[in-house]
Amino acid sequence: ASREFQEHDSVFDLGHGVKVGGGSLMMIAGPCAIEGEDILLEIAQAVQAAGANVLRGGAFKPRTSPYSYQGMGEEGLKILRNVGDELGMPVVTEVMDPRQVALVDRYSDIIQIGARNMQNFNLLAEVGQTNRPVLLKRGMSATVQDLLMSAEYILANGNKQVILCERGIRSFDNSTRNLLDLAIVPNVKGLSHLPIIVDPSHATGRPDLIPSMALAAVAAGADGVHIEVHNCPEKAMSDGPQALLPNQYAELFAQMKKLATLL
Ligand code: PEP
Ligand code: MN
Repeated sequence: ASREFQEHDSVFDLGHGVKVGGGSLMMIAGPCAIEGEDILLEIAQAVQAAGANVLRGGAFKPRTSPYSYQGMGEEGLKILRNVGDELGMPVVTEVMDPRQVALVDRYSDIIQIGARNMQNFNLLAEVGQTNRPVLLKRGMSATVQDLLMSAEYILANGNKQVILCERGIRSFDNSTRNLLDLAIVPNVKGLSHLPIIVDPSHATGRPDLIPSMALAAVAAGADGVHIEVHNCPEKAMSDGPQALLPNQYAELFAQMKKLATLL
């Protein structure tokens, strides 16, 4: 992962002509969880029209409570694949279990490792044996070195396509869901050739703070921004309170684009 190993920025192909790294931005949007085909298609069309180039949606959800909605599983993966193909968008979804890596690899263009599994080394080794780009989210109490070492597990297994993601870390302050560490972007850029994106949705948990933090991420040099969008947040099965509405996302996207052209 080190700049000493490779001086130039890594650039990865994500499918459908989308790239990340070296100036290409990976703009991920979509609902926290896949809830059905019609609703996913509606959200996907809206975020694509706004400018998003990667569609997200969870089929296996890492919920704090076992009694919360756990996701649609393989049925959800099929829906995500169908919608991605219909719109010509690469898709990203989380895998939580080494035994499900082959299944997720069959349906998804990009494999997400969630914050809670950043140091699940067997899972990292397993995705390291696929040819899919991996979106590796920072653990909620992981240092920058911990994150880079987890990336190393994937790289050491032969998969060179690792995209890092800052999604906030735990702090003493509960006024936001997590504490967004934006300095990690230029910090990692000095240390590593891997792309790094920012997820202000899970970092703040607050729609009123997401737009300014998304813009700050672009200004800090992030290789992309990951945002949860839902067309009916009050009915969402997961993370509704932090979802942006499609029109809020469209407004934000236009601002991010404008800012990116100034840099
Ligand atoms: C998610 O992206 O829906 C998610 C669960 O994120 P994190 O792993 O960052 O909490
Ligand atoms: Mn979520």
